[in-house]
Amino acid sequence: MKRVVFIILDGLGDRPIADLGYKTPLQAAFKPNIDKLASKGMIGLVHPISPGVPPGSDSAHLAYFGYDPNTENPGRGSLEALGYGIKIGDDTIAFRVNFATLSGDVIIDRRAGRIESEYASQLADEVNREIGRIDGFDFKLINTLDHRGILIVSGLNVSREVTDTDPHIIGVPPLKCMPLEKASNPDNAKRTANAINRYLRRVRDVLCKSEVNKQRMAEGKPPANVILIRGAGVKSSLESFNDRWGFKAACIAGGPLYKGVAAALGMDIVNVPGATGRVDSDFNSKFRYAARIVREYDFVFIHIKATDIASHDRKPSLKVKLIEKIDHEMEILSNLSSEGVLIVLTGDHSTSCITGMHTGDPVPILFYDGVRIDGVKRFDEISAVAGGLGFIRGLNIMPLVLNAADRAEEFGIKTSSKPRMYRMHYNR
Ligand code: ZN
Ligand code: ZN
Repeated sequence: MKRVVFIILDGLGDRPIADLGYKTPLQAAFKPNIDKLASKGMIGLVHPISPGVPPGSDSAHLAYFGYDPNTENPGRGSLEALGYGIKIGDDTIAFRVNFATLSGDVIIDRRAGRIESEYASQLADEVNREIGRIDGFDFKLINTLDHRGILIVSGLNVSREVTDTDPHIIGVPPLKCMPLEKASNPDNAKRTANAINRYLRRVRDVLCKSEVNKQRMAEGKPPANVILIRGAGVKSSLESFNDRWGFKAACIAGGPLYKGVAAALGMDIVNVPGATGRVDSDFNSKFRYAARIVREYDFVFIHIKATDIASHDRKPSLKVKLIEKIDHEMEILSNLSSEGVLIVLTGDHSTSCITGMHTGDPVPILFYDGVRIDGVKRFDEISAVAGGLGFIRGLNIMPLVLNAADRAEEFGIKTSSKPRMYRMHYNR
């Protein structure tokens, strides 16, 4: 029976890049510690949702933790809110927000130059002071980390069945919020979408007049003169990770979304010093704390956002450097196997440094020690094709983890009133 350290390097997978000699960042990086785990473990490739489908981080994480993103995703907005410590109640929806830059009518930067929280939070305060209630709905804008935020909309019969205004690309105008074609209550969805569109128009006016933006422009920085919203979410009511998989779990992460997914699944959130959710995050601190708390927990989830940020910013050499830095700090974990800890390392999806977008390419995954040693000596997208795990889907990961940790219940055995995949009774 093993305990588990489960590491997700966000947006880890990539495509071959000319500047890297047509290697992927993982292939180009010098990463002796990770490759050592690969050579003594078992690797493969994950299709986070299904082949060819580029996932959002929320859906991919849910799938990896064994929750079907098609039917069990409360919505990105409410997960981000939870990660920020805000529980979404009844008659309330929450969106993920990006502070972004418009020039004329088109978006030229989806992250407003990655505006710092210090300024983005002032902008959110100004918006909240000017705009509160529209058409019977209350609006509240909250800045979380840098350009990211949450928009909370509450009021009787507010509907999550509305579209995003974030088109996910630059060079086009923001989208209109629309009711979903198959909304279960079309009137509520339409009323919600109309109020949101009115709100967003007013937000634009407030942001354009803000001194914060005037100052940014004077400094040659892109103003945060619009907000883009996506991922309408509602109160989460997911079965806990412990009930579903029998693991007492903890999460070490900097970004609100990842803490939010963990919180929605009932994992304990362990805040460690230096975990920022940015490229400057203290990886050493994260791994050090993980090595310590895995004595109290069965499952420690570590999330590192830096690799995804470098990819969105189309900086392949930075991605290589970050992978090398992570590899260096991972040495702390190398002795855990002798203490009965299984290490799983993967990415939640591929993010291309060429396009700056999430792609539907599969991501390498590593199990150490991996039940069977497959003879693959390197951990990258191409070497993984020859790995013993083959091609799997995100939802396959947790059963594989249970099996590799010697916790899987034999199929068909009924030791509890509800079907369970893990052994109910064991001696720790
Ligand atoms: Zn991600
Ligand atoms: Zn991303």
